[in-house]
Amino acid sequence: MTSSEVDVRLAQEVSQLGARDMELCMQCATCSASCPLSEGAHTFPRKIYRYLQLGLEDQLLASPEPWLCYYCGECNKDCPRGAEPAETMMAARRWLITRYDWTGLSRRFYRSPVWQVGAFAAVALGIILAFCFGHGPIVTERVELTTFAPVAWIQLGDKIMLSTLGALLLSNGFRMYRAIMGGVKPPPWLYVTQAWAFVLHYLTQMRWRKCGTDRSRRWVRHLLLFSGYVTMEVLVVAFLGAFQTDVVHPMWHPTRIFGYYATVALMVISAEMMISRRQKEETLHRYSDFTDWFFLLLLFLTAFSGILVHGFRLAGWPLLTYGTYVVHLAIAVGMLCIMLPFGKLSHLFYRPLAIFLTSVRQKASPDTTLELARVQADAGELFQSCLQCGTCTSLCPSSQEGSLSPRQVLRQITLESGTKRSVDQAAWDCLTCGACTPNCPRGIGIIDVIKAVRAIPVAGGKPPAFLKAPLSSLKAEGNPWKRAGAERQQWVQGLDLPPFSPGHDYCLFTCCTTAYDGRNHIGGRALIEMLAKAGASFGTLGTSENCCGDQARQAGADAVFAELARRNTERFAQAQVTKILTTSPHCLNAFKKAYGGLKGVDVEHYTELLDRLLAAGRLVPVQNLPLTVTYHDPCYLGRHNGIYEAPRRVLMRIPGLVTVEMASSRQDSLCCGGGGANGWRTDAASRRFGRRRIAEALAVGAQVIATACPYCVRMLGDAVRRLGVGDRVAIMDIARLLAMSVTAVNHANGPTREHATAEQEVGHA
Ligand code: SF4
Ligand code: SF4
Ligand code: SF4
Ligand code: SF4
Repeated sequence: MTSSEVDVRLAQEVSQLGARDMELCMQCATCSASCPLSEGAHTFPRKIYRYLQLGLEDQLLASPEPWLCYYCGECNKDCPRGAEPAETMMAARRWLITRYDWTGLSRRFYRSPVWQVGAFAAVALGIILAFCFGHGPIVTERVELTTFAPVAWIQLGDKIMLSTLGALLLSNGFRMYRAIMGGVKPPPWLYVTQAWAFVLHYLTQMRWRKCGTDRSRRWVRHLLLFSGYVTMEVLVVAFLGAFQTDVVHPMWHPTRIFGYYATVALMVISAEMMISRRQKEETLHRYSDFTDWFFLLLLFLTAFSGILVHGFRLAGWPLLTYGTYVVHLAIAVGMLCIMLPFGKLSHLFYRPLAIFLTSVRQKASPDTTLELARVQADAGELFQSCLQCGTCTSLCPSSQEGSLSPRQVLRQITLESGTKRSVDQAAWDCLTCGACTPNCPRGIGIIDVIKAVRAIPVAGGKPPAFLKAPLSSLKAEGNPWKRAGAERQQWVQGLDLPPFSPGHDYCLFTCCTTAYDGRNHIGGRALIEMLAKAGASFGTLGTSENCCGDQARQAGADAVFAELARRNTERFAQAQVTKILTTSPHCLNAFKKAYGGLKGVDVEHYTELLDRLLAAGRLVPVQNLPLTVTYHDPCYLGRHNGIYEAPRRVLMRIPGLVTVEMASSRQDSLCCGGGGANGWRTDAASRRFGRRRIAEALAVGAQVIATACPYCVRMLGDAVRRLGVGDRVAIMDIARLLAMSVTAVNHANGPTREHATAEQEVGHA
């Protein structure tokens, strides 16, 4: 499987746990709008469908949302595709339980009724055998339960069992904590101040009161069941001496009152829940997992056998009392051992824990300072008409590889409900690749909104850490790579590149990445040599060039961009430039779209000129290059400027060269990961995309990935190195490939390879 393919294992696993309609979901988000509990940074259940459809296992594991759902079924009513999101949320919870559990038992239990019943039977049998061989004296004249089963023995057994099950549950809870908190490191005091959330939601499950049409009835019903369960546990664990006694207490005695309450609550509510599942309500319980039935049945039988023991004791029937007591303990212990750490009962712990952790996380990442009015001022108001259709998110590579959901960003800005993490930080993951915008049915300029979000901290002097050095280097040296502006021409040493004069046709504008990044020098030099060979008339502004500023503009650094644009525009004007030839699609994009002062100046990317020179016969590829080559469309050449064919035509003119297309190409091309200032990042976030692209190229058997952007050469080159596949695939600029066929190239900064074969060139790259 290549990394660009969807991993279906997650969907299969969750299907086995009860989700049945993942393929139906079209990501319309109607269910999220219907859900009374879906809010703020935690919207669901659509998001969970997306994780399942895309196989995003890590995201699902880190997601608290399945625990924030209380299974009311409201979402089931409105799905236009007839999907049942509530069931999917339930299945996702089961999957999470299996993943938190390090023993692997819960996975087996959820997948196999045989395992579940077998494990229960083994524990129950163990209890029965323990009594067979280890009971106290059997008094038959009267009922002496405490002689048959001494309280001290039972208390010891209770302690051993509960501490073992508690340790298992806590260790699983720790795994849940690590998954949900991810890299967030809140100050320790937040855990203390937010502890109330755990206690409150454990005791009351009060979020349920917002949930569903018969919300009060269902909440009260569950609360009664919970209170019956907790009351019984307290009686058995803390007050066993008073509860299990041979003295018949009067009716008003607390142990009898609480004991009866707990028994009635457990029996009546568990019976009612079983009936509800059998009747299969319209929106809920249409599908029940085996474990749902099994748990309710065991709960009922525990309470029923308990009241039988009590009845036989009151009736004075010793043997029936002792026998039923053993059966009662066997059922109760079996149920606790199977259901508490590995099954349904664990939700009593996981759900409040998820709410608590979510609360800590949110406090550690406080609400965004983003103001709707500020985004509107920069990006207009159209984005507020977003339909929430999710098309953008489903197309967004950053959504597939990371956590950005443009749909969610827009929603949260509009509702002013975002957090720093969900909006401010997420916006930096945007590659400005442009995959989303052309497909938005509302025509929303999503990148403009993202840029507006980014501009706020940048203008406030608080850009993200990775941006600080490039921005200060741009201001001081006119390039983002922390290199002296005076060194800008070092890469062309030995080549004949004259200063631009009004007699020249073209002013060759060199991208900073071509000028300062060693991986781009060969391609840049090859371009200059071919232009000279073709007799093109060109010169350069040399060290007076500044960065075009396109990436700074995408980063929301409007002031930095404006200053760079001012300087370049002045220099072009002073030199009387009428045609600019760019080595980078980013320079092309900036000059064409954002330099207001360049009116009347033609701007062209070098692949367009090479295409024309080849067509005119001024360059003739002669050397056979027996290579399988795939072309990677740079976002800013393809999607942003519509140049798809010229680079391909150049490649197709090279004799012997076979071109193949990757799964994502032209309008559907994948970003290399360097767009939108992400090429300046030093963390792992921006590297995932390059790896994915390399996998696509390898999948079609390409030996060379040709491209026409210095950032792509850099990012994809990094990915090849990290993947260790340099012996299988090389990254080459189109100019370099063409030069290998058109002419012998003398590289002053590297070994001379005039006579190198094409294969040797690939090996060198
Ligand atoms: S309502 Fe929810 S489950 Fe149904 S198609 Fe829309 S997003 Fe998918
Ligand atoms: S079942 Fe209820 S709480 Fe859960 S996702 Fe659906 S509407 Fe929301
Ligand atoms: S521009 Fe690209 S990375 Fe940014 S939101 Fe749109 S699709 Fe995602
Ligand atoms: S921005 Fe456009 S594509 Fe994205 S959710 Fe809104 S309407 Fe749909």
